[in-house]
Amino acid sequence: MDPTDTGADTDVRRRIPRTDAVLRDPRLLQAALRLGTARVKSAVHRAQQRAREGAVPPDAVADTAVSLLPRSAGGLRPVINATGVLLHTNLGRAPLSAAARQAVQEAAGPTDVELDLRTGVRARRGRTALAALRAAVPAAEAAHVVNNGAAALVLAATALAAGREIVVSRGEMVEIGDGFRLPDLLVSTGARLREVGTTNRTTAGDYAEAVGPDTAFVLKVHPSNFRITGFTRAATVGELAPLGVPVVVDIGSGLLAPHPLLPEEPDARTQLTAGAALVTASGDKLLGGPQCGLLLGRQTLITTLSRHPLARALRVDKLTLAALEATLTGPGTPTGEALTAAPEPLRRRAERLAAVLGADGIDARAVASEAAVGGGGAPGVTLPSAALSLPGRYAAPLRTGPVPVVGHLEAGRCLLDLRTVPAEDDDRLAGAVRAVGGR
Ligand SMILES: *Cc1c(COP(=O)(O)O)cnc(C)c1O
Repeated sequence: MDPTDTGADTDVRRRIPRTDAVLRDPRLLQAALRLGTARVKSAVHRAQQRAREGAVPPDAVADTAVSLLPRSAGGLRPVINATGVLLHTNLGRAPLSAAARQAVQEAAGPTDVELDLRTGVRARRGRTALAALRAAVPAAEAAHVVNNGAAALVLAATALAAGREIVVSRGEMVEIGDGFRLPDLLVSTGARLREVGTTNRTTAGDYAEAVGPDTAFVLKVHPSNFRITGFTRAATVGELAPLGVPVVVDIGSGLLAPHPLLPEEPDARTQLTAGAALVTASGDKLLGGPQCGLLLGRQTLITTLSRHPLARALRVDKLTLAALEATLTGPGTPTGEALTAAPEPLRRRAERLAAVLGADGIDARAVASEAAVGGGGAPGVTLPSAALSLPGRYAAPLRTGPVPVVGHLEAGRCLLDLRTVPAEDDDRLAGAVRAVGGR
């Protein structure tokens, strides 16, 4: 120790507790079990630094470290989706049902995903999820599951059409979002695209002229994120099935059967019954399940796909299989509930929230709003809804608060649409708004 150095700074520094001493605080010991030692140590180091800078007193280092701990070991935060967009891509598309969450929890440890517990020998991976998928779509002879809708298309193109031709309408060469275009994806597999028809009109005759010995399949893509209206024409699967080559239909949203509220959205059952050899779809859009890609159709094609080497690179994990099966067999999904919620109860919820928050002096009003399916699904469909309208300055603090709430701005007001908020979250929503109002 330097006897000449008697400055007050040094004095404070000497009183800052050592890291190992702080780490013995029971709250931090507990936190290390949950978050890992590295994250807890990092919080302690930041707290010590604040003490060195004089921002907190030396005896408050442990308390400060506790306040600096991250909420959980993962960086993803649970968010209340009050955007009114049911399948918000930036919020992870479909929220899982309670049954699916439970199934994920149960499958998290060692599980019989590839083992027959009765005989003790290896069994087909994900067989119960695949059986559930087949039961949900009896028109499909077989099913296979991959990582997402794009992977389903890539597997089909690679296994069935590499070095050969895929016949596709110019009106269905779509970009699925974030700069990803289906034609690029298909060409990347080594298949060649044979474009037919025009942007607005393609007839069955256009396809018939293009189909030849080099054709691997005809592809129909649902233009799921835009609409062409006016002088348009598209060939149906029923018209294309007799051409003598498989018809592959990318339906996009994952509806397994027709939905009365979405008459323009194609579904797997209808396409297969009309003669599609293979249907591809996403699991986390209108099906309301985990991110995955569904392949449904003829046994021979599904066998070819599932035995292709690429299938191993695109296979889904046990958590996805668990969530998918529970989505298919369990009670309704949050997406389904948000889609079919009646407007009147939504209005009453908005009015109740506006009243309780208004009583706290917050400028909150109940207003009519319009929700949408989103996630590149059902373009042009609007769902009558109700929202809580707040001053625009609420938007940012609501997003960054302890319970992040994402709404949207309209004419300077922050709208929190209730169609995408489960009713049991109303009190948490009110709490989040109150916390901002009080700041
Ligand atoms: C969403 C969509 C895709 C892509 O599916 P992902 O699951 O996002 O990979 C492909 N085609 C259509 C028609 C879609 O709507």
